[in-house]
Amino acid sequence: MKNIMFIAPPAAGKGTQAEKIIEKYHIPHISTGDILREISKEDSEIGNYVFETLASGKLVKDEITYQLIEERLKKEDCKNGFIIDGFPRNLDQAIEYDNILKRLGYQIGKVIVINVEEKILEKRITGRRICENCHAVYNINEEENAPQIESICDICGGKLYQRSDDNIEAFKTRYQMYLEKTIPIIEHYKKQNVLYEVNGNDNVENIAKEIDKIIREN
Ligand code: AMP
Repeated sequence: MKNIMFIAPPAAGKGTQAEKIIEKYHIPHISTGDILREISKEDSEIGNYVFETLASGKLVKDEITYQLIEERLKKEDCKNGFIIDGFPRNLDQAIEYDNILKRLGYQIGKVIVINVEEKILEKRITGRRICENCHAVYNINEEENAPQIESICDICGGKLYQRSDDNIEAFKTRYQMYLEKTIPIIEHYKKQNVLYEVNGNDNVENIAKEIDKIIREN
């Protein structure tokens, strides 16, 4: 199993697609966004800094992400492959990621870009709801992904919440960050011959099929 990296704009469905891969291939999903959201709950200087930065839609300082990524990748469960999502987010991070992989003896694997139109992203962002108990993700703007009752999880009955950065204002900043800082790393991976692109405007199942085809190809 090759390692997999997702590059995609905010709310492109990276988390949802990662869940499908985990179910099928039993490899860990490493999301810097998820790790940072946990850190943002801490009542400490770093916790407060991360909380404010996430809410604004800007990127946290590179150094913070390097340490947490390297620590996570050192764990035993990454030895047989992993999905990395949300990192790297800019060219400096991509260069440092190459160094981290070298130090740990890992290959880059396959880099999958999920392309989605801005208007569709906006709709997904404002409709996204997450279960605070089991972390299932819904979308109240999409019939096929809406919960049966607007604020209750279909699976476990937990309460659904909206991420603090899932609003139009933070979205604009996050999308701008993606265009300015993250798009340039696509070229970095094209040169390494590891880049694959999928059409993320389609529904969840069709995108999953396209991604699975890439994973199974040599
Ligand atoms: P995500 O869940 O991937 O949409 O990430 C949510 C937020 O976490 C981003 O808007 C950033 O503020 C922060 N973040 C996640 N990954 C990184 C990263 N690699 N570098 C800097 N900030 C990040």
